[in-house]
Amino acid sequence: MSEPLPAEAIAAVPAAAYTALGVAIQAYEPEAAVLITRSPSALLQILLEAGRRAVVAAAPAIQSAERERIYAALGPAHYVIFTEDGWTVEHSVECRLSGHMPHCEWLRAVRRVAAEPRAEMMGRWRIDGIDGAGLPSLARIEGDAP
Ligand SMILES: [Zn+2]
Repeated sequence: MSEPLPAEAIAAVPAAAYTALGVAIQAYEPEAAVLITRSPSALLQILLEAGRRAVVAAAPAIQSAERERIYAALGPAHYVIFTEDGWTVEHSVECRLSGHMPHCEWLRAVRRVAAEPRAEMMGRWRIDGIDGAGLPSLARIEGDAP
């Protein structure tokens, strides 16, 4: 169990909450209801510990849901930037966090056209797809022409 609660925390819980909790507990666990009058601090401690355990148990599902929300919010878009010195792919957040960036299909597709860069390729492009030949479909980002 965690550390004892400070008196301010116990006092912050309205007495009516202890009463309502006592009624609820009495209905299900008559023995636990004794704690409500004998030791509200101990009962609150038990409830906090139960809450902490519930959050810890739910954490993986919460993390997974939050990760999916972030992926959806930021999107799967990949970009490529061609410069006079070379090129680089900006991977999506999902691609970066997955640990599979070196095996990224978008990277492989860009690699096929990046071997022979042409002057008109300079700038930043969104990779919209990969055709049947494995070549990327690129859309220039407006305002980023050479
Ligand atoms: Zn990628």
